[in-house]
Amino acid sequence: MILTDELLLNYKRCRRRTYLDVHGNLQQRDAEKEFLGKLRRESQAHIKDVLLGQSIVYQRPSVSRRNWSLNAQQTKTMMQQGVDCIYGGMLALNFADWQLSSKLVNAERGTLINPETLVSRLFNSDLEANKELQLISNSTNAIVKDLTFLASPTLLIKTAGNSNFGDWAYLPVNIKLGRRPKPEYKLIAAFHAQILAGIQGVFPPQSQLILRQHDSYCVNLEYWLPKMQATITDCITMLTELDEPEVFISRQRCSLCHWYNHCYNTAKSQKHLSLIPGVTPKRYEYLTEQGIETVESLAEINSSLVNETITEEIINQLQEQAHSIIKNQAIWKSTHNSEDKLEIPTKAIELYFDIEAEPELNLDYLLGVLLVDRQANTEVFYPLLAEKPEDEGVIWQQFLNLVASHQDAPIFHFSEYEVDAINRLAKLYGTPKTEIQALLTRFVDLHQLVTKSIFLPVESYSLKSLANWIGFEWREQGASGDQCVCWYDRWLKTSDRDSLTSILRYNEDDCRATFHLKDWLVNFLLQS
Ligand code: SF4
Repeated sequence: MILTDELLLNYKRCRRRTYLDVHGNLQQRDAEKEFLGKLRRESQAHIKDVLLGQSIVYQRPSVSRRNWSLNAQQTKTMMQQGVDCIYGGMLALNFADWQLSSKLVNAERGTLINPETLVSRLFNSDLEANKELQLISNSTNAIVKDLTFLASPTLLIKTAGNSNFGDWAYLPVNIKLGRRPKPEYKLIAAFHAQILAGIQGVFPPQSQLILRQHDSYCVNLEYWLPKMQATITDCITMLTELDEPEVFISRQRCSLCHWYNHCYNTAKSQKHLSLIPGVTPKRYEYLTEQGIETVESLAEINSSLVNETITEEIINQLQEQAHSIIKNQAIWKSTHNSEDKLEIPTKAIELYFDIEAEPELNLDYLLGVLLVDRQANTEVFYPLLAEKPEDEGVIWQQFLNLVASHQDAPIFHFSEYEVDAINRLAKLYGTPKTEIQALLTRFVDLHQLVTKSIFLPVESYSLKSLANWIGFEWREQGASGDQCVCWYDRWLKTSDRDSLTSILRYNEDDCRATFHLKDWLVNFLLQS
């Protein structure tokens, strides 16, 4: 078995993902999403930017990382030769050497530990994680003894020190696109440091991250090595004992995962509570401890279960959400005061607004507006599109002209993004504050209105989920905001007009879904 840094990174985010990547049926994986390919290309481009920007001169193994065994051999040879900087190398360590390297955690880092010292430390060590690994080793000997740890640090930089190679040593550097040093980056940096220690016989003086703004960050190995070792122990235990983690669908975490459909279908077949809005992993753990495992039992939940994890307010919300699902109907929140009328304006002319953006370029490239004339019974869609990123200012002005020519029309949208974008665009293109303040008084956020007052029998309060429930269907199969980002990227690179057409259809449908939702809300109010 091979335990890679990628498996470990995924384990930190979702234990089940690592389990399925090792033991799952690969036929059940989803095809890779185009958006993931785009993220990977951006990450590669960022690494190249850093290498160029910092004038880093490097050598790399002649074989790619796909041939990990040969790559690792070549990397080690380059380290023995004292190459200053190695890019694209791999580090491989077997289980026995990993155990030896664990001893170095207790040693003063930066000092050469000779093999005899290592062996004596091995037998005298009281390192908890290592003891646990030993236990696993005893119970699942064959698998663990075959275990190889595999790391792919972006760079290995030669530094002063005494190692198995001579009077030099290496330190690992990982170049990441993230803005902040996330815990999973630090965990992987510690993993790289320990594998490197096992190869060069000495702990690297540091393990570095270079982040989005090309800023360097030194990982605190004193803190992260024990955490990493404990994580490795848990991960190996799970993998060797075939302990498949339970499914838990979390939109944010699962949406880009290649096991999504497999896990979603599993959760659906189990009527898993994670498909109920408001059931977070922590709350789920607590609820199941209390024997609440079905939507029916959630509907019966009572305030005696209040504790530090779950307040009375949350209990009421979960209970009402469960009632809505069981009855398959929209219900008012008990917190909604019937005296407070929901403010949903209806006018002769209404505008429905949705934006498509490219976050990497900090660009709002499509301002879609559906104009609904209730008197004339017409609907006209205005796709204000920047075919070139530099046209953003032009479409902003077109948008201002369009909304100014319908001064009385309320502007319906779904989510806070549109308001944030209007403020950003106004600032960027110097639109007077008073004009924007007046404009924003016409904005009506339907997401906020729904989530403030109503429970619906849905799995999430996204526009897609709500509009699907009221019977609205998008024309583009598999379309999403992420996919639009890919289509726009493709358009910019290849001038493929079909990509633009797909974006416009998707954006128009988003505006139409918002329009349907608004009409449904008005009807719901009338009937209540
Ligand atoms: S879909 Fe979600 S639960 Fe399933 S493996 Fe992926 S991240 Fe984990």
